[in-house]
Amino acid sequence: MCGVYPRGLLPSSIAVGGKGSADDRPMTRIIPLTDLRAAARAAPLRAATDGPAVVPSGLLADARGRPLRDLRISVTDRCNFRCVYCMPKDVFGRDYPFLPHDELLSFEEIARVARVFKAHGVEKIRLTGGEPLLRRNIEKLVEMLAAIGGLDLTLTTNGAVLAKKARALRDAGLNRVTVSLDALDDRVFRAMNDVDFAVDRVLEGIDAAAAAGLSPIKINMVVKRGTNDQEIVPIARRFKGTGHIVRFIEYMDVGSTNGWKMDEVLPSADVVRRIDAVLPLAQVDPNYAGETAERWRYRDGSGEIGVIASVTQAFCRDCTRARLSTDGRIYTCLFATAGHDLKQLLRGGADDGALATAIAAVWNARDDRYSELRTAATAMRPKVEMSYIGG
Ligand code: SAM
Repeated sequence: MCGVYPRGLLPSSIAVGGKGSADDRPMTRIIPLTDLRAAARAAPLRAATDGPAVVPSGLLADARGRPLRDLRISVTDRCNFRCVYCMPKDVFGRDYPFLPHDELLSFEEIARVARVFKAHGVEKIRLTGGEPLLRRNIEKLVEMLAAIGGLDLTLTTNGAVLAKKARALRDAGLNRVTVSLDALDDRVFRAMNDVDFAVDRVLEGIDAAAAAGLSPIKINMVVKRGTNDQEIVPIARRFKGTGHIVRFIEYMDVGSTNGWKMDEVLPSADVVRRIDAVLPLAQVDPNYAGETAERWRYRDGSGEIGVIASVTQAFCRDCTRARLSTDGRIYTCLFATAGHDLKQLLRGGADDGALATAIAAVWNARDDRYSELRTAATAMRPKVEMSYIGG
């Protein structure tokens, strides 16, 4: 059962203490985790106002025994690209009601939430969006998150302004970047981003990130059959031997605006077959339990690729990810229809203990496994957009 805590091994109690930070205060009392779970299920996201604040420490597990390990934070719902599979122009046009600035979590609020998530076992934080590099002074947020310590800090970007920002991000404490790149052919790339953005500028961004030491760099290619699948082998070739890791992602039915159809999904097994036919591959063990990408290495020793088969081989059973939306809601699945409002607590004077309790309640009650249950009918269900929840 990789990545999953068998029920019998769940921690049976949690330590609790007085008001203060989740990280540095002494623990003073122990309450059974089961009690917290029951209370949490009954009243999710209610601020604890009486008595000592409850700060669960150590591991949490959801209703399926999955631990909480990763947090994806969407820092803006805006993007300068209009990728046809993510933010199609006809929906995200000039009049689209993006969030007003005061609805966005401030950097201080994000860092505070991150600290509480870390106390709950989160080890890795990914900044995303929208396009995270559009958020003004994003490096300041990186610095604040790096100051928490002990977190693997990464960021996913379309690379448009990465050449300008890479060094400052690295200096602020970012560990690595993932760059989205759906084609090398400039014509195909411009058609996919739908804002006529040249592929060379993204390639410059990748080079700048490598020079700044933000490696190993991951390159994400979303494969849409009939649109960019002819780019699979050229992209694999281009980055073979560079140390960058290309990950080929199955086109998913995220959100409700991309008009997803199963026939446009090219199964990851086909991606591997196409690459292996010209650049022989061998499968590699995962780096850790719950890794989303299946790893393959080039037989000549010149690097590796990954495939993310989120449609044809769902990996919900190992999913350890929570998402924090731009406006401070917690989502426990990329395909969720609703989130849990943390901002109300943050701005309503809740202390860290109350935040921790609320987060524990959400995680303990989590039962999502959308991708394992996906059908043509569920794909039509209204879901939140990836740009808002964070890809
Ligand atoms: N703007 C940044 C970027 O382009 O990487 C971060 C946000 S974007 C939503 C994060 C990732 O989600 C990108 O790699 C993007 O290609 C991927 N993505 C968006 N829509 C997708 C879909 N329908 N299926 C699979 N991946 C998708």
